Amino acid sequence: MATFRKDPFGPAWVLISPERGLEASDFGSVGRPAPVSPLSPGQDAGLREIDARRPSGSRRDGPDWRIRVLEAPGRLLEDRPFEVRGTVPFLHAPARGRQEIVVEHPDPQARIDRYPSDHLVDLLRVWRDRMARLADDPTVRHVQLVRNVGAQAGAEYAHPYATVLGSPVPNRWVDEERTAAEAYRSERGSCLFCDVLEHECAERDRLVAQNDRYVALTPWASKTPFETWIVPRRHESAFGAEPVNALPDLADLLRSVVRSMATALDDPPYHLLLHAVPKGGDEAYHWHLEVLPRLTRRAGFDWSSGYYVNPTPPEDAARFLREAAVLDGVG
Ligand SMILES: [Zn+2]
Ligand SMILES: [Zn+2]
Repeated sequence: MATFRKDPFGPAWVLISPERGLEASDFGSVGRPAPVSPLSPGQDAGLREIDARRPSGSRRDGPDWRIRVLEAPGRLLEDRPFEVRGTVPFLHAPARGRQEIVVEHPDPQARIDRYPSDHLVDLLRVWRDRMARLADDPTVRHVQLVRNVGAQAGAEYAHPYATVLGSPVPNRWVDEERTAAEAYRSERGSCLFCDVLEHECAERDRLVAQNDRYVALTPWASKTPFETWIVPRRHESAFGAEPVNALPDLADLLRSVVRSMATALDDPPYHLLLHAVPKGGDEAYHWHLEVLPRLTRRAGFDWSSGYYVNPTPPEDAARFLREAAVLDGVG
């Protein structure tokens, strides 16, 4: 049975989840997709449908969906209260939380940068609505969306999908970013993310692309090669509070970033992480997407020191991505 254990040596909670490695995956043990994707229409991955975008009049659980949200039970159990038990230094808590899988497209070969525009906007709307929904649970301290693409990026399915998680323990990286932004705010009186955006748009060295509402940039201290963030110009802390009418601009920029990366780096495996706090109105935090191509392996030095070795200066990465966008005709 899955359990959270509190790391007594630092802020982390670790989910000890013995079933995790045994779940159905269409990659199988050799990293090759199964002949039929278990997430395809008409297939039953054994997961319950909790939401879907489908033509009007079509029935729940029927095969004619366009985007589908499935419940992913088994890893995090819903019904037990989150209570920290045990004695220091061996604290633990039941693995309460909710996990959902957003199946993005009926076609297992579909790629996010090739979805029709209205489909991608619909998908962002589903992400937004699910995150807002999970954040309504009073026990949820953190909501996150993770999209792993490619077996080397830890994807469980070759079929395009994202995982949305609501958990009772905080996300360590969001917490670290928030702590830094809070300290900056109390010193300078402004949002760290908003100030970085203003600077990067003026200086342009690390600017990848931009439109009226969003900016894509490679961060000053990029932890991995080609790490790219997409940040809204308007200050907002929760993705669930993002205005719906802004989503077409987000879709355009996301498509252009993913396509530039595919061109510049020959279709790398990647992680797409949505960092946000559960609710809007947080003046210190500013939600963003992080796109992290999986190009290097984390070596022992990184694990040992807690900092990262990145062989690609973010200024070079931004320039390659801008050039790739020109080649793609989307720049
Ligand atoms: Zn801000
Ligand atoms: Zn972040």
